[in-house]
Amino acid sequence: MTDYNLVYTLDGKVYINLTNSCTNDCIFCIRSIKDDVVGANLFLNTENVSADDVIEQLEALKDKLSDEIIFCGYGEPMLKLDVLKQVAKYIKEKYPDKKLRVNTNGHANYVYKRNVVPELKGLIDEFSVSLNGEDEKEYNELSKPNFENAYEEVKKFIKACADADINVTATVVEGYKGRHLNLNKCEEIAKSLGAKFRVREWIENGY
Ligand code: SF4
Repeated sequence: MTDYNLVYTLDGKVYINLTNSCTNDCIFCIRSIKDDVVGANLFLNTENVSADDVIEQLEALKDKLSDEIIFCGYGEPMLKLDVLKQVAKYIKEKYPDKKLRVNTNGHANYVYKRNVVPELKGLIDEFSVSLNGEDEKEYNELSKPNFENAYEEVKKFIKACADADINVTATVVEGYKGRHLNLNKCEEIAKSLGAKFRVREWIENGY
């Protein structure tokens, strides 16, 4: 039995929190601001998380499972690709009506040096990808990626989702400490990549 929050509920939805690692260091990341998302402590005491650990916590919440289950926590879920796939497969087999979404920074294809999106076809119903800006300069200022050309990688990832015919939404965080983005331009970029577009208003208390 694990004693940390791999699975948590927020506003009636169930979320899966696989890692505290990330290839970005966004200035608005709640990891660095507070240690809970509306009451759920999402700091893991190990990065050595197995699919069985996650499934155990998921089953403990089985009466509360929402129609949509989201991989999203204090870190980048695609960094735990194998665990994510195993958990998604389990959910799809046991609860075929549930929709699965991954909230991601879109760096996975860079990290794994291959296009991993087709591997998730049939497992993941939607990707929500943080576009976080209208160009590389803005992206780097806001997201502080730990490798070069990350903005291009994010755009390529979004297009890879659309090409694989998986629903994809590009998101931006608007209004961080009074900072405003060119939302029309961001939306144009999202649409040109085959994605929907969503603005997430920055809120002090997290996502
Ligand atoms: S991509 Fe998400 S988890 Fe990673 S630093 Fe940015 S806000 Fe935090």
